[in-house]
Amino acid sequence: MPTSGKNIINMDIYNNSEIWFICGSQHLYGEDVLKKVEQNSIQISSSLNGNKHIPVKIIFKEVLTSADSITALLSKANNDDRCIGVIAWMHTFSPAKMWINGLNLLRKPLLHFHTQFNRDIPWETIDMDFMNLNQSAHGGREFGFGASRLRKERKIVAGHWEDEECITDIAIWARAAVAFADTLTMNVARFGDNMRGVAVTEGDKVAAQAVMNYTVNGYGVGDLVKKCNAVGDDQIDRLVREYGDLYDVKDGSILKSDFIRDAAKIELGMRAFLEEGGFSAFTTNFEDLHGLPQLPGLAVQRLMADGYGFGAEGDWKTAALVRSMKVMSYGLSGGTSFMEDYTYHLEPGNSAVLGAHMLEVCPCISSDSPSLEVHPLSIGGKDDPARLVFKAHSGNGLNASVIDMGNRFRMLLNPVEVIECPDMPKLPVASVLWKPLPDLKTSAKAWIMAGGAHHTSFSTSVDSRHMEDFASMLGIEVVNIDKDTKLSELEKEMKWNELYFHLSKGIV
Ligand code: MN
Repeated sequence: MPTSGKNIINMDIYNNSEIWFICGSQHLYGEDVLKKVEQNSIQISSSLNGNKHIPVKIIFKEVLTSADSITALLSKANNDDRCIGVIAWMHTFSPAKMWINGLNLLRKPLLHFHTQFNRDIPWETIDMDFMNLNQSAHGGREFGFGASRLRKERKIVAGHWEDEECITDIAIWARAAVAFADTLTMNVARFGDNMRGVAVTEGDKVAAQAVMNYTVNGYGVGDLVKKCNAVGDDQIDRLVREYGDLYDVKDGSILKSDFIRDAAKIELGMRAFLEEGGFSAFTTNFEDLHGLPQLPGLAVQRLMADGYGFGAEGDWKTAALVRSMKVMSYGLSGGTSFMEDYTYHLEPGNSAVLGAHMLEVCPCISSDSPSLEVHPLSIGGKDDPARLVFKAHSGNGLNASVIDMGNRFRMLLNPVEVIECPDMPKLPVASVLWKPLPDLKTSAKAWIMAGGAHHTSFSTSVDSRHMEDFASMLGIEVVNIDKDTKLSELEKEMKWNELYFHLSKGIV
């Protein structure tokens, strides 16, 4: 997929992040054992650090043997901007009362790696010295009780440290931790307000910041128009040439038209506004385009491809979610886009969902080179907007949505199978055809029962595992609609969740 090369998610986010590896023990064992514990910890953390699947540095910190050192180190983790998470391993037994203050203080994501230094029991040589050192099997349980007793959110990974499944789990969690760190500096700009009358795109922005960290602020479209009008003709000439180089343009005359030149002007103005304001996600609303000649389509598509989160019709929750999923997926194959369940194909035995939007689908999910086109839009009463038209590549995908339930935020996840889409010569928008799991009827009933939005963040890069880790870090509810979903069970689960989130949060 051709890109503008201006990606705002770059390796800096990953290069500047560290995960701290700590090992719990106690003084009971004597210096010799503690030295061995340290050597083994260094070996495990170095091995994880050197693994190409784990996208951030894993740094060994220390073997912790007292309540004071645990509290001091976990406080340091909180205050160090580079630290995006902590991996704790119990090589020996580390009495969990020592961990209470530290774990209560810790605000960074926590992973309990329940591993053991030796993969196999050395049957011929095992003696009491060996037993004295290799105590993860019960040391990890003591730590587990401590964390569970404190109701501490954490990820548990169990198995040998060279086991590929364990490494995959750690890599997935690390990507979610980078996205979590990114929410702490995420600012969402809203050009205009919500689409009038729509409920699901509304929500409590103060609660969103308290729970999901990012800030959301509205701006008059006039401020954006001012930026667009300040764009010079030479800048527009250059950008239109870039469009011609990057995309398939069947009708070359459009590159000279005001439709494309206006689209370039909107892109340059929007980009300047977002860069100057330090924004990483934004929303638009087709009901509020005063002074803009056309609905921003091409501009939104290209900004999304550069790493910005986006939500249409004022949908700031989806904009933030698209941004987080783009951060998580950096360097992976596939892509992440704003999406909407648009139209059903209800042929018996072969039902599917056509996902699209008026214009705003990210070309990072395209199967081939997008085509640049200009067509009328039957909504909004503006000039014909420019857009990239393409079809998504087939394979596994995921639809995710975050909604505001009033007393909590709920994340919905639904894996889908993206299938080949027949040609639609009269529909000039980017689109995706998918079969949701477990099947369209169950998925649609479950999604609607759970109140999921018509807008989603759609990804062919990240899956439910990334999103579950991310939701756990945020402390929000997750509703999974997947191959095992049974509607009667899901209905009960959501009723229990209602109680859990009401009772666990107290009065907020
Ligand atoms: Mn929409």
